[in-house]
Amino acid sequence: MEIEKDRVVTMHYTLRGDNGSVLDSSEGKDPLSYLHGHGNLIPGLETRIEGKTAGEEMDVQVPSGEAYGAVDPEKKFDVPRSQFPPDAELEPGSQFRAEGEGGPVVVRVDSVEGDTVKIDANHPLAGVDLNFKVKVVEVREATAEEIEHGHSHGAGGHSH
Ligand SMILES: [Zn+2]
Repeated sequence: MEIEKDRVVTMHYTLRGDNGSVLDSSEGKDPLSYLHGHGNLIPGLETRIEGKTAGEEMDVQVPSGEAYGAVDPEKKFDVPRSQFPPDAELEPGSQFRAEGEGGPVVVRVDSVEGDTVKIDANHPLAGVDLNFKVKVVEVREATAEEIEHGHSHGAGGHSH
């Protein structure tokens, strides 16, 4: 059975960034199970594995533009130190939840320069070309309930 819309795909994957470092992997864990064609994976990955079948293994390159997009300079901004709680730990890499235009977003501290905190609200993988190694474990028809919910209910279709 081939990967196409309204089918549940179970797969192992390893994600590497531009420099070859592993960013995420299902190795040693349960494989990932998702409903294809419902925007559950980044679009550039779903498109490229369409038509594959169980047992197939492939390397998939997804340019940043089809993954998490380019780095948006407007999502980098300066915030006065005084706007944070006094006990907030502000170090490069610290993460905070903030209200964005489209709902809550996670922002990161880039650096702290004097009384100015430099914030980056871009996705951590913005601007990064992604390299996936994918091994398709199983492809099955989704249940009506899964299609209605827009997500997989696990390898067997029952968990939630
Ligand atoms: Zn559900």
